[in-house]
Amino acid sequence: MSEETIFTQIVAGEIPSHTVYEDETTYAFLDVNPLAPGHTLVIPKEPYERLNDMPTDLIGDVFETTGQIAEAVENAVDAPATTIAINNGEAAGQEVPHVHVHIVPQFEDGTAKPIHTLFDGVDLADDELAQIAEAIRSNQ
Ligand code: 5GP
Repeated sequence: MSEETIFTQIVAGEIPSHTVYEDETTYAFLDVNPLAPGHTLVIPKEPYERLNDMPTDLIGDVFETTGQIAEAVENAVDAPATTIAINNGEAAGQEVPHVHVHIVPQFEDGTAKPIHTLFDGVDLADDELAQIAEAIRSNQ
């Protein structure tokens, strides 16, 4: 766990934020550089760097808050859908080393982009998929 992050400072009220939700273990606030109106970040109050580092009960808390807040965000900005994403590690573009779930509203105005637009995609044969699946199973 990191000692302190910009997000622990937000939780502590040392850095101002537009807070939308708080409970014992989680916190949600508007992203300061929104990708869309209503772009919200949901975090565990404790500064785990990556989802993989978090205890499962805390992952449960964060996703419970995410589901609840996604509904509120959609209603608040009249969005029919949201993209919910985590940049899980620096190589994935994570800039703040404190787990945060992005809730980004998407609209039916021709601007919506699915996460598939982030990747070029790869062609993998079925035996390669089987090998990868086996490697994932044996690494649990
Ligand atoms: P990442 O790239 O790490 O997944 O996303 C970090 C997010 O945190 C960015 O979207 C960025 O705009 C947001 N962010 C960074 N610093 C602050 C801050 O001080 N306040 C708020 N509200 N958001 C921040």
